[in-house]
Amino acid sequence: MEVFIEPIGRLMNEFSRLPGVGRKTAQRYAYKVISMPEEDVRAFAEALLDVKHKVRFCKICGNFTTGEVCDVCRLRDSSQICVVKEPKDVVALEKLHEYSGVYHVLHGVIDPMNGVTPNDIRIKELLARIGEGGVKEVILATNPDVEGEATAMYIARLIKPLGVKTTRIAHGVPVGSELEYTDEVTLARALKDRKEV
Ligand SMILES: [Zn+2]
Repeated sequence: MEVFIEPIGRLMNEFSRLPGVGRKTAQRYAYKVISMPEEDVRAFAEALLDVKHKVRFCKICGNFTTGEVCDVCRLRDSSQICVVKEPKDVVALEKLHEYSGVYHVLHGVIDPMNGVTPNDIRIKELLARIGEGGVKEVILATNPDVEGEATAMYIARLIKPLGVKTTRIAHGVPVGSELEYTDEVTLARALKDRKEV
């Protein structure tokens, strides 16, 4: 006999798919759902489907958006492109309110050990954007870990010959860390003190 009756066990299995959610937490979540009013549960379920149906990638920068092109790409200074690994890095940088340019989300970094080559991330798309002209600076803001550094250097080698100023965020961000978990003062300084590469 299963410890949990089927609908509860099933819901727990679904919650367990989420990062950081173990069996205990999944059980707490499932019990909470049982005690919630039906309209709250419905709103929760609808929000899950909504995010799946409405969110897509901006066709210019690759960040999440609900339209074809995100608001940042539509409204901001496109002469400065900040290159990041993932959408969550855009959030970390936007929280600073220090940057007025646009972004380019690579959706990964070069990581040969795990089979990720330059062709697997959005480098071609970045080169195409630069090729359209009007770009004055590319800021390489991948994480300061081994893969992030290697990716930044790889991209720098490709775009420097195009005559575009190429900078790397400063090492205020501790080596091996992720932008997402860097405190805002440190990250703002790393952005401000970026160095030409
Ligand atoms: Zn965009």
